[in-house]
Amino acid sequence: MGKKIIVTVDGLSSCGKSTLARALAKELGYIYIDSGAMYRAITLYFLRNNLNWNDPRQVEEALGNIELHFETNPVTQRSEMHLNGENVEYIIRDIVVAEKVSEVAAVKEIRSFAVAAQQKMGEKKGIVMDGRDIGTTVFPKAEVKIFMTADEAVRVERRFAEMYDKNPNITLEEVKTNIELRDYIDSNREVSPLRKANDAIVLDNTHLSEKEQLQAALKIVQGRMQPA
Ligand code: C5P
Repeated sequence: MGKKIIVTVDGLSSCGKSTLARALAKELGYIYIDSGAMYRAITLYFLRNNLNWNDPRQVEEALGNIELHFETNPVTQRSEMHLNGENVEYIIRDIVVAEKVSEVAAVKEIRSFAVAAQQKMGEKKGIVMDGRDIGTTVFPKAEVKIFMTADEAVRVERRFAEMYDKNPNITLEEVKTNIELRDYIDSNREVSPLRKANDAIVLDNTHLSEKEQLQAALKIVQGRMQPA
């Protein structure tokens, strides 16, 4: 086994980052961290408590009361998001959260809070983390950086299929609007906007199966792994 490294997976919404990052972590025996789940859980906290993320005082107070951690579900072996001791993995995928998360994630103090927690999780390396700014801001020195893309129509279809399972009332149009809005806000915010890091390798999975994208990613990782 070589020395443990950090692998970052960034990209637009719904291009399969978490599917790839989770599979890659499993293959490498690494920990998978879904940074988007953290922003979603923070958003859920603001929504539930009727707090305004544009009010610095309310943001400071909220962040002082938020505790986030991941726990492995013993049945599925998947890592799940916990907010103040409650498993919120399912509820944070709701469209109500998805509609606000990019606004919340654009707030500087909220990003500093999440980034500090993410950097702590990577202290011992041996992680695969997916998000928007992981290769640029959270781990600018990561050994392997992957930037994923896929055609928008394919991304919308994939996310729609995923959300429809949970909520058959959702429409393709709603999902499309949400993805376009989040991509716009995420790419244009002032603090660490979504960008491909200069040293990231692009992986376009429009025409790749899950197995094929994993193989492509493993090739990228193997090319960078250091011998022990
Ligand atoms: O990855 P996911 O789609 O669950 O992320 C939800 C939202 O969280 C993104 O649309 C983005 O606004 C925010 N996010 C972020 N930085 C990250 C991960 C997610 O701003 N590293």
